[in-house]
Amino acid sequence: MKNSDVIIIGGGFAGLLCAKSLALQGVSVTLLERKHTPGMGMHTTGIIVGECAREFALPDHLTRKVTDVRLYSPSLRYVDLKSSDYFFLTTDTPNLMRHLSDEAIKAGANILYDTPYEHGKMSGNEVIVNGEYSARFLIGADGPRSKVAGDFKLGQNTEFLLGAEAEYTGLPLENPNAFYCFLDQSLAWGYLGWVIPGVGVAQVGLAQRMPKRPDIDAFVKRMKDTFDFSNATVTARRGGLIPCGGLVKPFTNGSVILLGDSAGIVSPLTAGGIHTAMHYGKLLAEAIASHLHHGAEHPAIVMSRVYPRFYAKQLLRKTFEYAAPNWLLDIAINNSVFKCAASTVFFKEKTLR
Ligand SMILES: Cc1cc2nc3c(=O)[nH]c(=O)nc-3n(C[C@H](O)[C@H](O)[C@H](O)COP(=O)(O)OP(=O)(O)OC[C@H]3O[C@@H](n4cnc5c(N)ncnc54)[C@H](O)[C@@H]3O)c2cc1C
Repeated sequence: MKNSDVIIIGGGFAGLLCAKSLALQGVSVTLLERKHTPGMGMHTTGIIVGECAREFALPDHLTRKVTDVRLYSPSLRYVDLKSSDYFFLTTDTPNLMRHLSDEAIKAGANILYDTPYEHGKMSGNEVIVNGEYSARFLIGADGPRSKVAGDFKLGQNTEFLLGAEAEYTGLPLENPNAFYCFLDQSLAWGYLGWVIPGVGVAQVGLAQRMPKRPDIDAFVKRMKDTFDFSNATVTARRGGLIPCGGLVKPFTNGSVILLGDSAGIVSPLTAGGIHTAMHYGKLLAEAIASHLHHGAEHPAIVMSRVYPRFYAKQLLRKTFEYAAPNWLLDIAINNSVFKCAASTVFFKEKTLR
């Protein structure tokens, strides 16, 4: 049996940040990731909010700053939103994952690729994984459909957005610093469509509240008079599930703790989960290290106090889904109260709660 203090399942943003922080604090950690190499088959658009960019130093060459927002109504009327100090970063996500993986390995974490989690069980005070690895704590950072959660009878995500994205070269953007967002409840119910300058590409996508499915071809067709797709070529496609129902219950049984998308800690309003994955990954690592080294409070108790519940954001999501039909969005787009509310959603310092 290969023993460590902590086993993490999943080498996404949550797992890698947690592994690096644990290793930096002298906690032995083994991370199992089913992908062959870091950065393979990414599903995320990879937009990083300003708060996350300030909390975690990310290499400049893997990111691109986006400062403006152009928000379209369903009839393609738009409003330009600006902030003097807020920004988003788009990312070369596959290479960013390689960077985060390298950082965790450099810190001393044992990261095993091509190693899927298959099964796990409790044995006394230890958790046994795949009959081969044992640890005091198991962290399930294995994404929105967590097998760890299922095996240990923890809560699972039940509400999702489904996102789809295509990456283009040769797609000219009038404002290369703008995040173009499209409200349209028939194409993107409960969320939006987007066109955003990425690192060397333009990213075009949309997400819908399930059970509806995003139709990227229909979205591109709708955009044909707004963007010039005539010389644009698709270089990559991606997509996946985004939990939007808030923190799962229970997220822990004491020895097994869920993190990131597995725990449902994704903003139900913006569908952003990268900052929460990284931030709470680091907090969970600190709680485990303090508990193991200094006998501090149990990490499950710490996390139950700090994990976000998103009550207000869930209410706002439901209101947007059911009380904002296209005709109302078309009227609202030029209204100063709506513009102010939209600026708040995009540019106000985002709380993680
Ligand atoms: C289309 C789309 C666009 C998005 N855009 C944004 C955005 O722009 N900004 C933002 O903040 N958020 C965005 N999100 C959400 C964000 O990507 C997630 O919240 C974030 O990636 C969560 O990180 P994570 O580490 O918890 O999970 P994941 O990134 O899903 O990582 C889970 C890891 O676990 C591994 N794994 C799963 N099962 C096993 C197993 N059995 N054994 C071993 N390994 C396993 C997977 O291979 C994966 O590497 C988007 C999501 C989608 C789907």
